[in-house]
Amino acid sequence: MPTLPSGPTLPLSYSSISNYLGCPEKYKHQYVERLKNIVIDVDDISFGSACHVGFADYDRHLKKIGRKRSLRYLKSRMAHWFASVPGIDGSRYDEFRGVMLQFARYHPFNPQEMHDAEQLLTITKEGKPCAPGSPESFMIGHLDRLDIIPERKLARIVDYKTNRSGQANTLQLLIYAVLVAFHYPEIKWFELIFEFPRLGGIRSPYSRHYVPVSKSRDVVLRTWDLVLAVFDKISQDPEFVPRVSTACQTCPYIPICSARPYVPVQVDTEPSAKEIGRSILILENRQKVYREALSRYVDRHGPVQVNDRQFSIEGVQHFSGDVNHLLALCKAHKISPQKVLTVDSTQLKSLMKRERDIAEILSSAVVVSVQSRMTHKKIDSEHDTSADEIPSGVDGVKENQTL
Ligand code: SF4
Repeated sequence: MPTLPSGPTLPLSYSSISNYLGCPEKYKHQYVERLKNIVIDVDDISFGSACHVGFADYDRHLKKIGRKRSLRYLKSRMAHWFASVPGIDGSRYDEFRGVMLQFARYHPFNPQEMHDAEQLLTITKEGKPCAPGSPESFMIGHLDRLDIIPERKLARIVDYKTNRSGQANTLQLLIYAVLVAFHYPEIKWFELIFEFPRLGGIRSPYSRHYVPVSKSRDVVLRTWDLVLAVFDKISQDPEFVPRVSTACQTCPYIPICSARPYVPVQVDTEPSAKEIGRSILILENRQKVYREALSRYVDRHGPVQVNDRQFSIEGVQHFSGDVNHLLALCKAHKISPQKVLTVDSTQLKSLMKRERDIAEILSSAVVVSVQSRMTHKKIDSEHDTSADEIPSGVDGVKENQTL
């Protein structure tokens, strides 16, 4: 994989993008330093690979014979699919068999609509299709199944998940949809679907209902803006600040993580529960001490910037009036309380004409104290690439955040 002189490892993929959005330090270890994973559940990966070999072979066979199901073929090939993955734990064969039989039972798609299985799509930074492995490759995706229905100008993108939890990240299908959009410009609609053979069905990435939802080309292409923004952000990220979350539990880089003391651990016995409670108390106090130390520095030397956050000192006013009443009135008038609390005397006069009840509370209230306090705010940037900022209508993105 070629690497830009200074910037993200190319080609980008769903995995690298979601890794960065989930935790920049994890991205750094995996894609910048290219460290080998220290602890990784190889067994689960091998099991998933064997299932995917089977899904693709079975899909291709159904397309060839033009039938929706062929249990005879499935049963005759299962041992071969399982053995094709080196190092797989043989004791999981029965489990594998169960997953494949479930797959055959519930697999709902028309075999004739399948365009390809296990298709690798690559594009350049300009969004032009290119061959996998070419030096211009900017983004790549490995699609489990792609259906093309030309008369409806529709592409159906299906990703098979072998987990038991039903977890999946919508960003994955959106990134695949972007690749399909650039490779097949005639496609106007996209159906994005996760199929969970263990759970016996498919589901839309937009909800837990078993109903696929179509999205237009315009909506899909908004994800391309997100990809470019993430690329810019990685290129300019000097810190790769770790983001501690529940995902740390399965992170292979815990032993070398700079946030290791803060990474949550398993709580399964009373002593470990007590230990966690003790750590929470220590961390709470430690945060106060850290804030105080940084606040003293910021007071003397000015704001400090860490990634897209800026630590600075700001004045905070304390309001002496009836806050609950004020909030209720603001809600009734659909006005932001923050806006109301910062009005000056001219704005107060105009408020007096329009929302008299609010203005009366404000004019009778007094500011009892003004304190300075250290705050940290997100710095405005042209592209905000927080994991939340996925095109509208995509509510499943945070499902394994992990976007
Ligand atoms: S342990 Fe957590 S914070 Fe550290 S690199 Fe992994 S995901 Fe990031």
